[in-house]
Parts: sequence; structure tokens; C-alpha cells
Amino acid sequence: MAQSTETTDWVSRFADEVIEESERRAPGKPVVVASGLSPSGPIHLGNLREVMTPHLVADEIRRRGHRVRHLISWDDYDRYRKVPAGVEGVDETWAEHIGKPLTSVPAPKGSPYPSWAEHFKATMVDSLAELGVEFDGISQTEQYTSGAYREQILHAIRHRGDIDAILDQYRTRKAPAKKQQKAVDEAELEAAEGSGAAAEDDGSTGSAGYFPYKPYCGNCEKDLTTVTVYDDDSTELTYACTACGFSETVRLSEFNRGKLVWKVDWPMRWAYEGVIFEPSGVDHSSPGSSFQVGGQIVGIFGGKQPIGPMYAFVGISGMAKMSSSRGGVPTPADALKIMEPQLLRWLYARRRPNQSFKVAFDQEIQRLYDEWDRLDAKVAEGTALPGDIAAHSRAVGTASGALPTTPRPLPYRTLASVADITGGHTDQALRILSDFDPAHPLASLDEARPRYDKAEAWITLHVPADQRTIVRTEPDETLLKSLDEQGRQSLRLLLDGLADHWSLDGLTHHVYGVPKVQAGFPADATPKELPAEIKTAQRSFFALLYHLLVGRDTGPRLPTLLLAVGQERVRRLLGE
Ligand SMILES: [Zn+2]
Repeated sequence: MAQSTETTDWVSRFADEVIEESERRAPGKPVVVASGLSPSGPIHLGNLREVMTPHLVADEIRRRGHRVRHLISWDDYDRYRKVPAGVEGVDETWAEHIGKPLTSVPAPKGSPYPSWAEHFKATMVDSLAELGVEFDGISQTEQYTSGAYREQILHAIRHRGDIDAILDQYRTRKAPAKKQQKAVDEAELEAAEGSGAAAEDDGSTGSAGYFPYKPYCGNCEKDLTTVTVYDDDSTELTYACTACGFSETVRLSEFNRGKLVWKVDWPMRWAYEGVIFEPSGVDHSSPGSSFQVGGQIVGIFGGKQPIGPMYAFVGISGMAKMSSSRGGVPTPADALKIMEPQLLRWLYARRRPNQSFKVAFDQEIQRLYDEWDRLDAKVAEGTALPGDIAAHSRAVGTASGALPTTPRPLPYRTLASVADITGGHTDQALRILSDFDPAHPLASLDEARPRYDKAEAWITLHVPADQRTIVRTEPDETLLKSLDEQGRQSLRLLLDGLADHWSLDGLTHHVYGVPKVQAGFPADATPKELPAEIKTAQRSFFALLYHLLVGRDTGPRLPTLLLAVGQERVRRLLGE
């Protein structure tokens, strides 16, 4: 069992508050924290904060020895609103399902899952497992269609006048969107839908007056229904479907094919599950937001509003390539293809929920990994700061133990360069990686996995072709012939010491040393002992090497590049 980190980072402070509140509201019961996710399409990476915020708090509570449940409410009984762009196996014919529950919409073609909701839920469930997130998943389809909420539904309908009065205080204001971050195109589309989507969240006012419950049609399964008659004593309800013309009268005390409108549904579930902590997106800080209104409605169900920090949105950098082909929806699975779960957990743990940050799919990921490795080393040495130690501890494992690690965590940028240069030839990659530290060669590439696989995926999926490294097959004879004496001498010095310095550390020392030696200084002279011009000499020397090796001004770090190209080929390309 991992120990409590006993620090005062944001996670720890929320844990204090949540434990105290839980003991006040429900003494002796497990602490309940909650997240809600809508499997209306690929679940956006931005929505991971909806899960990670309560997860980290729940994990801290568990580390302290308390019982805790992290509920993930799958909002799979929500209506299918639109056909998301760029989803494989889906065409415009899916539009005919708009208005049905997400669990009644067919999965994309070729999916092994029985419905749209199950298909998109499955990918998220896999990602959460890889991230070490323990949770109790609750399908709202199962809850509603099994009649689990029957008493709550009847109660809400009996008190529809009170609910209507609460909602009425905000009706003149612009209604906000639902709690989750949407992909940009979806948000735009919803804005364009305007009051239609907003009214749907609120509850309809038909000939039966305000009604906080909507049946799905018994004929076409769509929610384009209007309640025309309701009798409180018998619970008999008559609805008409505007989509297919179907109409029927049912008894709500035994009918299970409909749901409370979102603004009533959410607080009902807070009360039903006894939720103590549930964060939501920043759009909920406004008056009239579902969280604010829910805080008033929850009392009707005899419950209390959870502690609910607003979290800032999480941005994505470097997804241009995917945006065009995939409808601009990076998922947690996309992030986990290119980074280990520890790194992704760390991004969430180290920032307070109200701080925004970006998940890097571009070159920034290399810098992020360097930062992570430095922190890892500091923690191992015992020199890290308390807040950093806390974030590190939350990143590397949970109360259940440490997440699987890469046995030999070589620098990500090194692995990326090797994957870039070897283009999927794993035997070559193993040879090069073994040269990095000849005293401790890799017995197998598996020792560098999964980090190696993540770096390789990043190169393949996210580095544009014009930034990939292509090692020259033939020497650049024109450039070699045009070199002056100084240029030729620098190459000779490099080649003469190559064999003796053939390791990552050795070559680092050597490539920086050549310009120093040329200028008459010892190879290990420190910057303070050297004139400023040395920097210029180093820069032109490096540019020359890049041109001769890869035909460009820049490239992967030179020691890495030299090792990756291999001694024999380096000698040939440098004109020996
Ligand atoms: Zn219908």
C-alpha cells in the first residue's frame, strides 16, 4: 500500500474538506465522489479532467485509509444530438437516429459493440484502466430502464411547480451548455442550435404545463415527444410524438422509457447517490448554470449540492494533423499512444483544477518528458520540493500500488530520434540504444518499453513529414569539396576521436570539444574559460554536421544522431 503523501497540495486540501463533509452528511458511510461522461461520440481528451479531478481526490482519501466510491455516470440515456464528423464507419445515414437514446443508436460499422454508447464507452474504459483510475460505472440507461429512479421521477413530477419556480428565476438569462467540454465544432453547432438545445435541458411546457420528464417514443424511440395530459393521482401520462405521430397513454408508476430533463436529472442523482464531490467545467460558474440551479433543486430531493470546484479547460497543442482527418477530437487513448500514463497523470496532478494547461502532441512533449525525468531524478535523490513530490507520487501510482514502468527509461527525445531515424527497424534501434551506454547495453528493446513505443508512435503519428529526419544515403560531395581548411580540420578532429567517444556521454563531450580544441583550448574547458566566439564556432560546426548527415540545418541532438547513423556511415558521409 502506498502511503499518504501528507502534503498540502490541492489534492490533499480537497481530500481534507471532502472527508470532513462526508462525515458530517453521512457518518460511517464511504465517501462518494462523482464524474459524468457522455458517450455521444469519441470522448474528448479535455473531458478527462472531469474524471482525473475526483480520481486524484478519491485516491488521496483511499491512501488515508478511508472507504471511497468514485462513480462515473455514463450519460448513455441522453439523446443522440448529432452525427460527429470524421468518425470511421459512420456516414450521414446515422442522422436518422437523432433523438434516440445513445444506447439505441447503432455502433459505427465494424464495431464489436452493440450500440453507439457502448462503442465509445469501451475506448474510455480501456484508457481509464491504463491510467489506474478505479471507478464504479453507472449506466443511466440501466438505471432509468430498470425503474431505479421511479420514486425520484414521481417525486419530481409531484413537485414540478417548485422546480418550475426555481428554473423561472433564470429563464430570461441565456441558458448555458451541459457540463462537459465539447469539441470545438460541436460547441459551435450547439450555439447555432440556439434556444432549441437550451429548452431541451430545462423541461418542456406543453398543454400539461411545465413537465420535467420526457418519454422516449414507443414507436420511433425518439424524444420528440410532448406530454399532453398527466394525472397526478393515477400517474397516467399521455404523450404525442411529433416525429412519427405516435401517441399513447402510460402509467408512470410502471413506465420505464423516459428520463428527467438534465437540470433535474443531475441534482436528483446527487441526492440519490449522496455525492460529496463532483467538479464541473468553468461554464458552470455563471448564474443559471446546471450546477447553480441544481444546488437549489437538489433540496427538493432531500439532498445537498456536492463540493464542486470549477475546472479550467485543458487545451491540446500540435493536433493540426489529426484535426483534419478525425474531426478535431483527440481522446485520452490518443494521448496514451504517445505518453506513458504517469506523464498524463502528472499533468493533472501538478495543476490546480482552476489552472488551464495543454496536453502536447507537438515538439513540446519532448521538453515535458525532460522535465518529468529531472523531477523523477530529484525525487530519487531526495532533493525535490514537497509540492513536486506530492504531484510525482500521485502520478506514479495509486493507493493500490505503482503503475507499470519502463525498466530502462531512456530520454524520450533520444528514443524519438532513434525511432525517427530507424523507421521501425527494431534490430537497428536496439543496436543504437545499446551504444548509448556501452557499459550497460540493453539486452532487449523491451527494457526500453513501453516508453520506446510511445516515442515511436509520436514520431509516426504527429511529426509532419517535413520535420522527419532522413539520413543521406550518399555523401554531399559538393559541400565536402567546398570546405575551407578549418571545416576540413573540424571533421578530421571529430572522426579521429569517434571510436574512443562512441557513447551518448562520450559523443556529447566530443562534439562540443572539437571547436574548443580547434581554437586552442582543452576539450574539457568550461564556458567561463572560453571566449564568446566559441559559441559561434560550435553553431557553424553543428550546422555543417547536420548538412552532411541529414541535408538540413537542424535535426535531433547530434550525439543521438551520430549514434543512430552508426560509425561506419558517419565516416562515409563526413568524407573519410
Ligand atoms: Zn415517434
